[in-house]
Amino acid sequence: MYMTTSFHPPQRILMGPGPSDVNPRVLAAMARPTLGHLDPEFIRMMDEVKALLKYAFQTQNEMTFAVSAPGSAGMECCFVNLVEPGDTVVVCQNGVFGGRMKENVERCGGTAVMVQDAWGEPVDVDKVAAALRTHPNTKIVAFVHAETSTGARSDAQAIVALAQQHGALTIMDAVTSLGGIPVTMDAWGVDAVYSGSQKCLSCSPGLSPVSFGERAIEKIKARTSKVQSWFLDLQLVMSYWGGEGKRAYHHTAPINLLYGLHEALVILQEEGLEAAWARHARNHQALLAGFEAMGLEFVVREAYRLPQLNAVSVPDGVDEAAVRAALLRDYSLEIGAGLGAMAGKIWRVGLMGHASNPKNVYTCLGAMDAVLSAMKAPVKSGVAVAAAKQVYANAV
Ligand SMILES: *Cc1c(COP(=O)(O)O)cnc(C)c1O
Repeated sequence: MYMTTSFHPPQRILMGPGPSDVNPRVLAAMARPTLGHLDPEFIRMMDEVKALLKYAFQTQNEMTFAVSAPGSAGMECCFVNLVEPGDTVVVCQNGVFGGRMKENVERCGGTAVMVQDAWGEPVDVDKVAAALRTHPNTKIVAFVHAETSTGARSDAQAIVALAQQHGALTIMDAVTSLGGIPVTMDAWGVDAVYSGSQKCLSCSPGLSPVSFGERAIEKIKARTSKVQSWFLDLQLVMSYWGGEGKRAYHHTAPINLLYGLHEALVILQEEGLEAAWARHARNHQALLAGFEAMGLEFVVREAYRLPQLNAVSVPDGVDEAAVRAALLRDYSLEIGAGLGAMAGKIWRVGLMGHASNPKNVYTCLGAMDAVLSAMKAPVKSGVAVAAAKQVYANAV
């Protein structure tokens, strides 16, 4: 019989829409000995994860923890607990992930009132206001803070303020925003938020940090129907994550992955949120300068660009998939393709978390320059790296 050998993945540079490069410290943490999931030492570490997540989300919410599954499960956790059959939910859609929110609302028996904006644009706050006026019985407003499918940032603070004026709760997708741009849950008054471990936190995929405020918990406690998902029912999950000292078995937590998240959050705390946001902004500016010097255009208008997700238009006549394939083959560099309506038309270059650094900016610009020039694409060669260098020189 043929003996399968151990799997040794190549060393890539992950500059797509996630997962991003995992910090070696996080990988090392995940290789530490597995504990029982009710071991007092493990429970102590879970309490630290909760405290570190509160810092990351800038919240005092007690109900702050990591769902044992990827960002999509955090999304589902927010919707299944907060949306009851018959609830009207205003869902803002300006890319792929808003569409998934609609799916969630409908599967919970709610009615989704869609506020549509063009892909690449932020959520239009005036349209949200209009939807709230025509649907005064709206229970929840749901929106994506950082649309990873397009690279657009929406004005979370304004959307939340509007929802509050109309007595509606808010669910915010902070999967890509957390750690990359300011997410200040309590200052904005967000009621429920979910994120992911593998984007700007630079941990391995598979965990979804979530946080629920008091108003959200009140709505959950007042439910007249059972939460449709047993696994994601907050009242049950919290018997494991909540309660000082006395933890009951709910499911077996992904122990080693939680060591990884713990380390990723320790790293974030060491750097400091403000410094992390500034680093993401600086590296974005350098990448932007390089791409623009080449003649490549950004999809999103300047005021709404996400520093951690750079959507760039593919020049006319260029086979976008061939470029990505060459980058992966020759440079071990992964960038993302467009999704849905933007498939074939854009590249998505991530500068997330640990991957947001000058070395990656230079590597990406140099590699793109070489690959596009070899394909005789209509770009200016030999200027991108120097343009990025100038940005860093001006920053000091
Ligand atoms: C990646 C992402 C998700 C889904 O996260 P998974 O971990 O892939 O399930 C949800 N929302 C946004 C904005 C994302 O970028």
